[in-house]
Amino acid sequence: MKICRTIAELRAALAPLRDGTVGLVPTMGALHEGHLSLLRAARDECDTVVLSLFVNRTQFGESADLASYPRDEQRDLGAADGAGVDLVFVPSDEEMYPPGFQTWVEVEELGSLLEGTHRPGHFRGVATVVLKLFSIVRPDRAYFGQKDAQQVEVVRRMIRDLALEVELRVLPTIRDDDGLALSSRNALLTPDERRRALALPRALATRDRDAALAELRASNGLVVDYVEVADFDPPVLAGAVRIGSTRLIDNVVLEDGVTPVGSGPTGSDPRSDSGGR
Ligand code: AMP
Repeated sequence: MKICRTIAELRAALAPLRDGTVGLVPTMGALHEGHLSLLRAARDECDTVVLSLFVNRTQFGESADLASYPRDEQRDLGAADGAGVDLVFVPSDEEMYPPGFQTWVEVEELGSLLEGTHRPGHFRGVATVVLKLFSIVRPDRAYFGQKDAQQVEVVRRMIRDLALEVELRVLPTIRDDDGLALSSRNALLTPDERRRALALPRALATRDRDAALAELRASNGLVVDYVEVADFDPPVLAGAVRIGSTRLIDNVVLEDGVTPVGSGPTGSDPRSDSGGR
């Protein structure tokens, strides 16, 4: 496994590998089983697997959130090696945002709903860094988690709008045994907060907005940012809550786009579509 810290180093390492397919898994590190599921899919489907580890400051609103975001590069590199990653891209802030940086990608409408309402500028930061990573790595396939359903929708729109030649692969949300979606931010919860956080997956599992809101309102110490049905591909019931100083998001797939009666398993099929091909 090769570790590249500059764009030039990564491009040089990728140059002799361009005959085969390249898969990119963009992450902010603090790797967990959710990230590893993306890496496994990439390993199965691509000749070369590139993992990026970059805590992208431009997608954070509050500086406290950025400052508290968990970071453990040594552990991440061990996990990446174990997952069979070929190249890890760990750029510095300066490498991704050189002095004078002023070029942004804005997916206007999709980026301003739901998460965008509560985190203005978030998806501008996401779309910009993802496009930059695509430009540096030039992957054939890029792997994202359904856990961040709106992020997937924003990236899909950007791929279509800008005719990017990359296939978007979306993998199901990985959860702990108790139902909590894995997230790097879970590490910030106290044991008591973590117990209370279970109200979010429990609420979304109703697959009904009103029932979900009722469930959350009955739970102590949670602030609900939103619970909404979103007409994404696939449609989801998505929610965001704050527990103490930690904010968690989650969603469940609504198979038929409306509140289903007696719903079956969700999100079990990886989805794929290609943009510019
Ligand atoms: P992050 O490091 O939080 O930016 O996430 C990197 C990628 O991992 C994104 O595509 C996320 O959607 C995905 N991801 C995060 N948590 C999960 C999860 N629990 N299950 C599946 N994918 C996930």
